[in-house]
Amino acid sequence: MIDLNHRYALDGRDLASYGGLLWCLGQFDRPHVPERPVFGTVRTRPTEEHAARLEPDRYMAKVSRTWRNPMSHTAVIGAGMSGLTCARTLADHGFRVSVFDKGRGPGGRVSTRRVEPGLSFDHGAQYFTARNPHFVRFVNSWREQGVVAEWGGRVVKLGAGAVADTSPQPRYVGVPGMSAVASHLAADLTVRRETRVTTVSRANGVWELTDESGGRYGPFEFLVVTLPAPQTAELIEPHPFAADLASVAMSPCWAVLVAFDRRLDVPWDGAFVHGSPLSWVCRNSSKPGRPTGPDCWVLHADPEWSAAHVEETPAAVAPRLLAALADATGVALPPTVHRSAHRWRYSLGPDAADRRALYDPETELVVCGDWLAGGQVEGAFMAGAAAAGHVLRSVGIASGGGRDGN
Ligand SMILES: Cc1cc2nc3c(=O)[nH]c(=O)nc-3n(C[C@H](O)[C@H](O)[C@H](O)COP(=O)(O)OP(=O)(O)OC[C@H]3O[C@@H](n4cnc5c(N)ncnc54)[C@H](O)[C@@H]3O)c2cc1C
Repeated sequence: MIDLNHRYALDGRDLASYGGLLWCLGQFDRPHVPERPVFGTVRTRPTEEHAARLEPDRYMAKVSRTWRNPMSHTAVIGAGMSGLTCARTLADHGFRVSVFDKGRGPGGRVSTRRVEPGLSFDHGAQYFTARNPHFVRFVNSWREQGVVAEWGGRVVKLGAGAVADTSPQPRYVGVPGMSAVASHLAADLTVRRETRVTTVSRANGVWELTDESGGRYGPFEFLVVTLPAPQTAELIEPHPFAADLASVAMSPCWAVLVAFDRRLDVPWDGAFVHGSPLSWVCRNSSKPGRPTGPDCWVLHADPEWSAAHVEETPAAVAPRLLAALADATGVALPPTVHRSAHRWRYSLGPDAADRRALYDPETELVVCGDWLAGGQVEGAFMAGAAAAGHVLRSVGIASGGGRDGN
């Protein structure tokens, strides 16, 4: 209910909306039977009767005012988890938001490659966990809407004997692919795809962007940059944030996507691999809602191996990582019906960072990304929420410096 309320501002962004939620849950009234469609057992009251008890005109004037007139226009560069979370939050607060991404669809490192009908692979993030209560609330609502589901695959560690992984955290995946989470966040946002932003500039108190084809966009009161640290540094140079960011190391990762014509004969669905060029292998087809058909696997090379082979071609990398899979599992690989490889130049960043978002009030520039928030999907979400928090506080909508950025 809170997610719906925040998304659609059903009660005009007013604290009274929490009263409405509690009313539905029985805080102020008893259940009224018989149960009716839509209203259930909540007492109904004709609008005229309700209006007579209140001052609707004053209430309308209060809840329908804009925070600023006109509302600020914000540019968000990057439609990964952090950019979309930020854009979604601002749009839900009535901001005009334009999102730019160089990719063909939203998601960034949370993405699904559909090779052909029946063959799809989550080639970036494999699953995610949720620890922060703010994120847990969103994940729960995504679960209820069928956007994500728990993946109950058996995960082991290879290399020190096949030991069952006993992680107590549920593992969530997008359904029918990881990119479902990004599509859900991006729904009804203005996302300009296949637009690589090449310069950002500020003059007369507003930001302007240009893309690689010379297209110009703006003016924007706020600029939120959500790219991996080295790309952010390059884009915002000569802003003082750039110097710090250039030194943030983000390791590459080679991913191999392979479909076998029959099931790979191992008694598990995912494995952290040690002592191998591989760090992770996963039976993509074991995740909920995936197409039935060939046995689809995603293999991730470890950061050192990926760095050492970063400039090689997909055709050179794929057979070597498949050989590493055969070595690590000790089983003969079935014939493949598909194999390809994807290089993530910036895969994982430092896992200890907890700054979430950087904000420069002079220029209304916000920088965020997983690399400022401990990495991972959850970190990216929290970074995006914190970035939106900076913008909201700047216009006076939110107050304080809450750790959750809201
Ligand atoms: C191989 C791999 C495996 C992973 N496994 C997991 C996992 O199992 N669990 C987990 O929780 N996390 C995992 N992660 C990490 C997780 O995917 C990231 O932490 C998270 O998705 C980062 O989101 P983000 O929005 O910060 O960045 P990104 O997703 O990188 O978003 C940045 C966006 O900016 C766009 N962009 C870049 N330059 C420009 C430009 N100049 N103009 C316009 N757009 C631009 C990109 O296209 C991209 O969409 C994995 C990542 C990788 C790569």
